Amino acid sequence: MRNIQCADITKTVKEMCIEASHFLTEDVAYALHKSVETEKSPLGKQVLCQLEENLQIAGDDMIPICQDTGMAVIFAEIGQDIHIEGGLLEDAINQGVREGYTEGFLRKSVVKCPIDRVNTKDNTPAVIHYDIVAGDKLKLTLAPKGFGSENMSRVFMLKPADGVEGIKDAIVTAVKDAGPNACPPMVVGVGIGGTFEKCAILAKKALTRDLGKRSDIPYIKDMEEEVLERINKLGIGPGGLGGSTTAFAVNINTYPTHIAGMPVAVNICCHVNRHSVREL
Ligand code: SF4
Repeated sequence: MRNIQCADITKTVKEMCIEASHFLTEDVAYALHKSVETEKSPLGKQVLCQLEENLQIAGDDMIPICQDTGMAVIFAEIGQDIHIEGGLLEDAINQGVREGYTEGFLRKSVVKCPIDRVNTKDNTPAVIHYDIVAGDKLKLTLAPKGFGSENMSRVFMLKPADGVEGIKDAIVTAVKDAGPNACPPMVVGVGIGGTFEKCAILAKKALTRDLGKRSDIPYIKDMEEEVLERINKLGIGPGGLGGSTTAFAVNINTYPTHIAGMPVAVNICCHVNRHSVREL
């Protein structure tokens, strides 16, 4: 049994909030950089260059990449051989978010109740997904989620008879309907299978996968590549101003499901596909 202190978790989450708001991971920054070369529309190219310049300024001057610094989503993979000391894990994570958003001067975008809309003023609570895994480590993945793109995400409760073509059409439909509202170029996270809520979590987690890494399952890999090609032929383009770069990647995760169903969730992220990963 390994002990991990709540204070260390809080400090780590705080640092991750600040890091993710100012720096994109290498794979996302590379996808943006590469798209400048491949984009066919001159206006689209210009938008991509501005996004690259914005990213550079964010890192150099420590100004958030986007004014919407998102709602903090955290995937916590908890090794079953660890013991958390000094309080509750959830409180430690939320304290890290509170300190990160306050000390990092990041926009506080969370309201306490979706009906009365009163801001919590410290961007808490985070949305936390817990997984118990083997080992004696605590792996935290923070993915602050902007809501321009979150609002354009969808769940489709397809029938098995809709088949693979039905799944592909659903993903393309979600992206087409999102259009410029999701601040393209987008990253498209897809969850197929499970239940209503499980497919949405699969889709959210898919957004944290390295953009250069395709699914290990050959027919899912093919689907990711085919759907990305279809999406990039929609012509939405960077900033929604037209072009051949509507999405950087389609990342699909799957899970077993019921014989009578085929849930498909499409979680769309903008080009500011932020995440930070740390292991304690
Ligand atoms: S969707 Fe992304 S780029 Fe658009 S405002 Fe939100 S965080 Fe910023």
